[in-house]
Amino acid sequence: MNNQELIARSSRVFINTYSRYPAAMVEGKGCVLKDADGREYLDFLSGIAVCSLGHCHPAVTEAICDQAGRLLHVSNLYHTLSQTELAELLIENSFAERIFMCNSGAEANEAAIKLARKYSPAGKYEIISLEGSFHGRTLAAVSATGQPKFHQGFEPLPEGFVHAPFGDLAALEKMISAKTCAVLCEPLQGEGGVRPMPKEYLAGIRELCDRHQLLLIFDEVQVGMGRTGTLFAYEQLGIIPDIMTLAKALANGLPIGALLTTEGVAAAFTPGSHASTFGGNPVVCAAGKVVVETMLADGFLEGVKAKGKYLAGRLAELASRYPRIAGEVRGMGLIQGLLLTPEYVDRGPAIVNKLFEAGILANFAGNVALRFLPPLIVTEEEIDRLAAALDKIFGEIS
Ligand SMILES: *Cc1c(COP(=O)(O)O)cnc(C)c1O
Repeated sequence: MNNQELIARSSRVFINTYSRYPAAMVEGKGCVLKDADGREYLDFLSGIAVCSLGHCHPAVTEAICDQAGRLLHVSNLYHTLSQTELAELLIENSFAERIFMCNSGAEANEAAIKLARKYSPAGKYEIISLEGSFHGRTLAAVSATGQPKFHQGFEPLPEGFVHAPFGDLAALEKMISAKTCAVLCEPLQGEGGVRPMPKEYLAGIRELCDRHQLLLIFDEVQVGMGRTGTLFAYEQLGIIPDIMTLAKALANGLPIGALLTTEGVAAAFTPGSHASTFGGNPVVCAAGKVVVETMLADGFLEGVKAKGKYLAGRLAELASRYPRIAGEVRGMGLIQGLLLTPEYVDRGPAIVNKLFEAGILANFAGNVALRFLPPLIVTEEEIDRLAAALDKIFGEIS
């Protein structure tokens, strides 16, 4: 079965929710994917920040096979060791004291929204999130998402979500009312165009939350789990949230989501408040445990920081060589965005297609930035290959 045959079959059966690239992937190893025609791709997207240890990391595969041979699923009516081990690791290495496990980023944010409402006094249910944010596709998560294009056609949306303009603390303060229960934000907006939150802005939000007794929820679904060079992005920002959500890279490709919080906030949930049939599945958690252990091993996160710097440097070089095409480089660790100039911003998708044709996977985020999310095991040599491909493309289109 080659690309063309597989694509034809898939196009006949799936609801048309994705505009996919013309490749059917069959194999992956490290930073390289192979399609059904035998063509190889250097992956600077990692399944959208998911396969952070690289494709088919041997220790993850071994943990999955081993656990699958013993116990696949029991539901949350019973305890399992692998679930508890992953929970302990995440709690020991974060601000949190309690965890809830689910299956995706949207679900983790749903849990956070429910927990914030349950924790808060009656009548306090409104959540302030930011314009340009992305929090998932379920109805509540999409309502929290501050991008109108994701809302269109799905109204009426659930009540209780308002969006503050990004970067404007005074505007956010004005939106706080007797109904507000929480502020939800990404420490760095991924889908919104690789846009970091300035430190003083975040500190201001934390201060407002404290003053008005609001919960601060960090959506670290994309930037958590080593992506920024620390296990969690908040560690570099000097701000501690009350609730943090995780998903994407937590099990290197198996579906998982998690909500982490303090003892005091967690106490608002009691048996029956919230649940998930699959959440914290033993196999998924066995993979998650290997992910956390690998990321915490000596030198791993320092390596992410160093390679992130290297990638940002190579992108900045390109921006200075092609100032008509590219400008600012922004990001943290190994989530980096190269902003296109107003003159070239419409060419973003075309540049990504040219990269694809050159055998490199990346994407265009927030209609502003070429976004690079390589596996955290990427090498400088692989980063050089990306830079060379971009150099060639920019040369052609300039
Ligand atoms: C991807 C993403 C989500 C949604 O995660 P799903 O697993 O697709 O539901 C939520 N928040 C952020 C910041 C994300 O990047």
